[in-house]
Amino acid sequence: MKYTLDTIPVLDAYKTQCECPLCQMRIHCEDQYIESMLSSAYMEPDYRLKTNETGFCTRHFELMFNRRNRLGLALMTHTHMQEVITSLESILSGGSAAKRGFLSSLRGGGKTEGDSIPQKIRARMDGCFICDQMKGSIERYAYTIAQIYFTNTEFRAMFDNSKGFCLPHLALILEMAEKTLSSAQAEQFTKAVAKLQIENMKRVEGELEWFTLKFDYRNDSKPWGNSKDAPERAINKLMGACVGAEAEMPAHND
Ligand SMILES: [Zn+2]
Ligand SMILES: [Zn+2]
Repeated sequence: MKYTLDTIPVLDAYKTQCECPLCQMRIHCEDQYIESMLSSAYMEPDYRLKTNETGFCTRHFELMFNRRNRLGLALMTHTHMQEVITSLESILSGGSAAKRGFLSSLRGGGKTEGDSIPQKIRARMDGCFICDQMKGSIERYAYTIAQIYFTNTEFRAMFDNSKGFCLPHLALILEMAEKTLSSAQAEQFTKAVAKLQIENMKRVEGELEWFTLKFDYRNDSKPWGNSKDAPERAINKLMGACVGAEAEMPAHND
């Protein structure tokens, strides 16, 4: 796959000194995709074909539900549901089910596990149009980070003073480096990432420990330092931004 550079959002994210710049870019582009789905994209035939087929995950249904334009969401959900009903009719009654008997096909009747009716229902509901689009954007940002580390001295200084990544994005950035850099550069980049990551995981771990020790009355009068929001930052470091201020979507006047 060929990736293209997208430098400006990467520099902007690194300027904020957050715990994971890729999480911050993920939330920003997630917000934009949700806005665009509900403002005009749902009326465009190309998009609609895809949302009819793929639908959305629970997170993205929920985020769209909490915005204005219930009509746009209702229209997309309606035509998606029509397609799901057609698939379901085929899954529940079509194909080899009649020949093999309903119970037999419910269990996968002699075929591989993926052929059972429950498996087919799960497969039909798999996937999300917004997740699919975001995956491409995040991979482009990860690619950009790995590339401009070697070409942009201003960025390299920011990177070397940054706080590493969450673990899902750590895996992504290392994978991207291995796929797109020369082996010498990949090795150098991986070492720089590893140093940052361990230092910053230990920093957050220490801040989290101090959070727990603050509940001891003997530490009552001692300062919180950076520990007040340590639980949410620790969870976000481990799992990707999902709780607290770092996971908040931009405000909208909905
Ligand atoms: Zn992240
Ligand atoms: Zn999704």
